[in-house]
Amino acid sequence: MRVLITGGGPTGLTLAIDLARRGVEVRVVDKADGFFRGSRADTIQPRTLEVFDDLGVVDAVLAAGSLPPAYRVHLDGHTVEERRMAELRAPRPDQPYPNPWTLGQAQLEKILRSRLADFGTRVESAMELTGLEQDEHAVTAYFGTGEIERFDYLVGADGGSSTVRKAIGAAFHGTTDETFRLVIGDVYAPDLDPTIGHWFAAATSPMTGVVMTPLPGTDMFQLNTPIGMDDDASLTTMQTVLDGFSAGVHLSGCHWSTVWRPNVRLAERFRVGRVFLAGDAAHVHPPTGGQGMNTSVQDAYNLGWKLAAETKLDSYETERRAVAATALKTSDDLLRLYAAGRAEAHKRGEEHLGLHISYRPQSATGALAPGDRAPDALVRDSTGKQIRLFDLFRGPHATRLVFGASAPDADHSYAVLRPGDDPTDFGRYVIDIDGNAFAAYSAYTASADGHVLIRPDGHLAY
Ligand SMILES: Cc1cc2nc3c(=O)[nH]c(=O)nc-3n(C[C@H](O)[C@H](O)[C@H](O)COP(=O)(O)OP(=O)(O)OC[C@H]3O[C@@H](n4cnc5c(N)ncnc54)[C@H](O)[C@@H]3O)c2cc1C
Repeated sequence: MRVLITGGGPTGLTLAIDLARRGVEVRVVDKADGFFRGSRADTIQPRTLEVFDDLGVVDAVLAAGSLPPAYRVHLDGHTVEERRMAELRAPRPDQPYPNPWTLGQAQLEKILRSRLADFGTRVESAMELTGLEQDEHAVTAYFGTGEIERFDYLVGADGGSSTVRKAIGAAFHGTTDETFRLVIGDVYAPDLDPTIGHWFAAATSPMTGVVMTPLPGTDMFQLNTPIGMDDDASLTTMQTVLDGFSAGVHLSGCHWSTVWRPNVRLAERFRVGRVFLAGDAAHVHPPTGGQGMNTSVQDAYNLGWKLAAETKLDSYETERRAVAATALKTSDDLLRLYAAGRAEAHKRGEEHLGLHISYRPQSATGALAPGDRAPDALVRDSTGKQIRLFDLFRGPHATRLVFGASAPDADHSYAVLRPGDDPTDFGRYVIDIDGNAFAAYSAYTASADGHVLIRPDGHLAY
C-alpha cells in the first residue's frame, strides 16, 4: 500500500511515523522550502505524551522540554506574586504523564522528523501538492513540479488553508473574528529571569497583558499579547506593549513572530473516498487552552492503524470530528474569557489534558466503557518483574487482556490474574496486577465480560 501525506507538520509527521512502523510505504511532501522555525504550539498535553510514548519519542520530548513554568506577575513594573495556570499533578499508576509539557513546536517537529528517519523516510521540502483526482481504486496527485503519481490513499495534513480540503470540496464552517488580534513571537530578553515565566499588565486591568514563557532548550521566550488593529508583529510593536506596562524589559531580538486572528473552523467532512483530512486541515483552534496541535497529533494517531489495516475507515470521521468539535468549543470559550480580561482564562482544568477523550458509543455506560482511553497500571509479568500495561500496549499491535482465565496462546494476548489467583493455573502469559493497581483491575473487569481488547491507539475496542 502507498500513502501520500501532504504536509510535514506535527500531524503529517505523526501519521508518517505510525504508518512507516507498520511497513506502509509513505511519501511525505511539504510545499515549504525549509522547516518551520517558530514555537507556535508550545504545550504538549498528557494524552499526546502517551501517544509519543507509543511512537518511541517520549524520552526525547521529555529531555528537550520542561514542566510548564510558574509565572511571576508584574503589575505596573512591580512584582506582586507568582502563580501557576494549573497545579502540578503527581504521577499516578493510571496516568504516567500527569502534566502538560512545554516544548516549542519547531523542536518537537525536529524530534518527529528524526524518528521518521529511523524508518528511512524523510519529508520532501519544496514539493507542493497542487491538485488531486480520485476513482474507486486510487488517488492521483498532481505536484507543482509537474510530477503526477497514483497512491492508494491521500491524507491532507496541509494546515488551515488546506489544498486537499478545497480539492475534495469539504466546507470549513466557522468564524474569523477581525476585531481581536494577538502577536505571538519568539524573542530574546537577556535581562529577564529565564527560570520562570512572566506576566506584565497594568494594575487597573491585571488580566490583560503580555505573557512571556521561557522556551526550553533555547535562550528565548514566547511572547503573546493582544495588539491593536493597525499593529504588526514587529519587535517594535512588542517592545511598545511591554513599555506601556512599565515592564522594564528590553527585547534584543526576534527569531519568529506572527499576528494571529481568531479563526475557529471545523471541516464538514474528514473523509471523501480515499482522501482524509487531519489536523489543522480539518479544524483550526485559538491558541488558548493548547488544544490545536494536540488534537491534530491525536487525529493522526487515530487514523494510522485504521489506514494501515484498511479497517474501520468510516469511524475516523465519526470519532475525531466529535473530539475536534469539543476541543474547539473549549478553546473558543477560553479565548472569549481572555479577550474580556477574565481571570478564568488563566486557569486550566483537567479537560485540557486529553485523558478523558473517549470514542464511547452513546449506549456505553460505566466508569470505564468501550471507546474510553485504556488506562495504564502497574503490573508484574510472569517472571515477577514490575512493568506497566503501557509497556504491553506499546507498538503497532492491538492487545488482549483476559481477566481471571487463561489467555489464547497468541501474540499480545495476556491472562490477568485476579488478586489471590495462583499463577501456575494460567499458562505462559500471566500478568499479576498487584495490590496498588486494584482500582485499575476493577475498572477494567467492570467494563467487559472478562475480555478487553485494546486498540492500537490505546482505546478500548467497541
Ligand atoms: C500563532 C499560533 C500559536 C499556536 N499555539 C498553539 C498552542 O499553544 N497549542 C496548540 O496545541 N496549538 C497551537 N497552535 C496550533 C498549532 O500550531 C497547529 O494546530 C499545528 O501546527 C497543526 O499541525 P498540522 O501538522 O496539522 O499543520 P501545520 O503545522 O500547519 O503544517 C501543515 C504543513 O503543510 C504544508 N502545506 C500546506 N499546503 C501544502 C501543499 N499544497 N502541498 C504540500 N504541503 C503543504 C505547510 O507548508 C505546512 O508545513 C498555534 C498556532 C499558531 C498559528
